Amino acid sequence: ERLDEQERRLIERRERLLGPAYRLFYERPLHTVRGEGVWLFDEQGRRYLDAYNNVASVGHCHPRVVEAICAQAARLNTHTRYLQEGILDYAEQLLATFPDGLDRVMFTCTGSEANDLALRIARHFTGGEGVIITRFAYHGVTGDISELSPSLGAGITLPAHARTVRAPDAYRLGAENVAATFAADVRAAIADLRANGIKPAALLLDGIFASDGVFADPAGFLAEAVAVARSEGLLYIADEVQSGFARTGATMWGFQRHAVQPDIVTLGKPMGNGQPIAGVVARAEVIERFGRSVRYFNTFGGNPVSCAAAKAVLDVIQEEGLQQRSAEIGGYLLQGFRRLAERHELIGDVRGAGMFFGIELVSNRETKEPAALVTRRIVNDLRERGVLISAAGPRENILKIRPLLAFKKEHADLMLDALDQALGMSMN
Ligand code: PMP
Repeated sequence: ERLDEQERRLIERRERLLGPAYRLFYERPLHTVRGEGVWLFDEQGRRYLDAYNNVASVGHCHPRVVEAICAQAARLNTHTRYLQEGILDYAEQLLATFPDGLDRVMFTCTGSEANDLALRIARHFTGGEGVIITRFAYHGVTGDISELSPSLGAGITLPAHARTVRAPDAYRLGAENVAATFAADVRAAIADLRANGIKPAALLLDGIFASDGVFADPAGFLAEAVAVARSEGLLYIADEVQSGFARTGATMWGFQRHAVQPDIVTLGKPMGNGQPIAGVVARAEVIERFGRSVRYFNTFGGNPVSCAAAKAVLDVIQEEGLQQRSAEIGGYLLQGFRRLAERHELIGDVRGAGMFFGIELVSNRETKEPAALVTRRIVNDLRERGVLISAAGPRENILKIRPLLAFKKEHADLMLDALDQALGMSMN
């Protein structure tokens, strides 16, 4: 009813050509034609504030990134089996952002491929097979990794070699219990794998537990679980596809909030601001043992155009002070969201780090009953108001907000006003 003729035709054409696996956002899907800075534009020229994009993180069509892509595409674009300097220059610049000891990088095209490769490397290194993930994890779409992504839906069956642990949910477990509970769950999962004759290989965790519902605090809660895993001979794989590249503000990488040292880190999404590039960073010993026995060639992985884009992204983050901005504007937004919680009963919990937020909506603050229907209504209402966000968590009652790192205070204010109004409307 609300769709116009053109929208209906596009949706029908899309279903006919692409099949049903591709899901659209919104009751009234957004027809985007252009992006610039923090804005997306529809075909009528209406602009939408992008508070959901963790790909075009430094700004849509950032001129610096566009220029780097065009210049390199006009000069050379081939694979990694010839000597090239661009990939090495970028590798040096990227590895310099990691703590000592994480000093090798391999390039892939997607975050899924990065996790797939990380898992292969961990299995090779440990001689084990078992993997521990969170209950509503998302790590990607390859055969192996989709099985480790229960958030993909009921069609996913957990394989015999995987165990899940509860999300580190401070809202429901209590902040003071998160670290110990999470560590105890990991310990139990390791024991259960062993009891079933499966040698554990890896603990694979999203740095901000995005699909589980966004859990960042208390900072440091991961340390105990990681210590358990490592003392039991598992490798800790930090999936930084969501939480990397200054997203969490105070630190460049999400795992640094918890003062832990991963054996393997996987990267993706914002790495090329939209140009496909992802990767695996790891301890030299881990990468070398794998690489000496297995040949790895990824046709498009680490190609010159992708490396040029990725280098421009790091340059922009560093020169425009986006990590600092992520911490500052992120802190401002967090305060703003907390103020909204004082006036809107619906908000049960406000959490997040840097420019990554989860706002959990509940129909009753005592019982914490998830308010999924209202959450969907608010996401759709905000789209009508020109602000783009989404929802997350097993019950889809958590507003998932990831403003571009390029947000300024004025954009944060727009976001807060629109959410305030949407929350007000939802009471009617
Ligand atoms: N890990 C996490 C935590 C992700 O959120 C995603 C993508 N949503 C992936 C891995 C997979 O990345 P890609 O879509 O590039 O394969």
